[in-house]
Amino acid sequence: MLAELGYAPTDHLREGDLILFNTCTIRSGASDKVHQHLANLRNLKKKRPGVLIGIAGCVAQEEGGRLLTDYPWLDIVVGTHNLHLLQAMVRDAEAGFRRSETDFLDNSQRLDLFPPIAGVNRASAFVTVMQGCDNYCAYCIVPYVRGREISRRFDDILQEVRELAGQGVQEIVLLGQNVNSYGLKGEGQPPFHELIRAVAEVAGINRIRFMTSHPKDMSDDLIACYADLPTLCGALHLPAQSGNNRILNAMNRGYSRERYLETVDKLKAARPGIKLTGDMIVGFPGESEAEFEETLSLMEAVNYFDLFSFVYSPRPGTRAAELADDLPKQVKLERLDRLQKLQLQHSRSHNEAYVGTVQQVLVEGLAKREGQVTGRIESGRIVNLAGGFDLIGKLVEVKIIEGYANSLLGELA
Ligand code: SAH
Ligand code: SF4
Repeated sequence: MLAELGYAPTDHLREGDLILFNTCTIRSGASDKVHQHLANLRNLKKKRPGVLIGIAGCVAQEEGGRLLTDYPWLDIVVGTHNLHLLQAMVRDAEAGFRRSETDFLDNSQRLDLFPPIAGVNRASAFVTVMQGCDNYCAYCIVPYVRGREISRRFDDILQEVRELAGQGVQEIVLLGQNVNSYGLKGEGQPPFHELIRAVAEVAGINRIRFMTSHPKDMSDDLIACYADLPTLCGALHLPAQSGNNRILNAMNRGYSRERYLETVDKLKAARPGIKLTGDMIVGFPGESEAEFEETLSLMEAVNYFDLFSFVYSPRPGTRAAELADDLPKQVKLERLDRLQKLQLQHSRSHNEAYVGTVQQVLVEGLAKREGQVTGRIESGRIVNLAGGFDLIGKLVEVKIIEGYANSLLGELA
């Protein structure tokens, strides 16, 4: 969108004629960082009054027009439903008009305004299939800043996938805040498992992934896709958030520990060796030591490939923010540390088990280290290997020679 207005990327923030922050407010740390960046730009604007400064994404949505008052050097505040206005807002800012646009649209308007492809390289593309979230987990700000769930038209998605395949893209990652509730909200679209089966039929698509899935919407029909579709990668991000039923209930997650583990067993039966990843929150208000230990025991039972873990962060306007939270910060950090140490063991043993095996790697680009390229095996793990530009975009057989905590080293087999 910005290229159409004549802007080009630069590697140096301070050289930009337009500085646009794309922001996250999922935890207070992410949001605080944005405020620091905005505050820091005051001097730049003094030195170069022509530079335009904008903020997009969830912090923009959450705080809205107030940001224009708090930061008089800010020109653009564009909310999560208003990206289609960005070009006009940049033109206005160039002419000296500062704007904030954060109104939520209704679903009929949104259907025609799905944002352009979230990201594409020569090998792999992200395709948004739904947006928003209706789940209202007690700790989470997403439903307030992304609005109601909406599923994009089935035919529009397939059309986009076919175009991408035509450009040589081999891997499609279907994206949504709650991706497996695609089609469940009465827009008349087929359910998610049918979408996956349709994408699998598109010639040239050799890998399909999707994220993020909610455990409560992991239907048997969707699990069956893992048994039936070889191009559906044997990997799934399925955040549990906690292993304790009282906490899961207080979080409003809509499943129990037992049901989560039952889903995991079904997935492991449908696709032996499937690699599961997840998210965990430690220190939810009132979490006891025994309740926390159930999170650790859930991790042992699942044997996650990778886990993203966070200390609970109160978010304004959410239900959990009202709960008494008297657990000392020290205890929360210590729990996080124990959890992460356990995960490191699990991740390492998964990675070491790859050593000596031959894996298919979809090469995505040049690695940071000179003379190497980087790509992913089916499970999503990064592999670096000696090679050059000619390998990019190709699916190649690679022998794994070393396993690290977060990546693998390989060589062409
Ligand atoms: N829709 C996805 C998650 C999106 S948010 C799902 O339901 O799984 C990404 C992750 O951030 C969540 O899985 C959760 O682990 C974490 N998160 C969200 N709100 C949080 C909060 N208030 N404090 C700490 N972690 C949080
Ligand atoms: Fe947030 Fe995910 Fe829960 Fe939605 S389902 S409220 S995005 S944690």
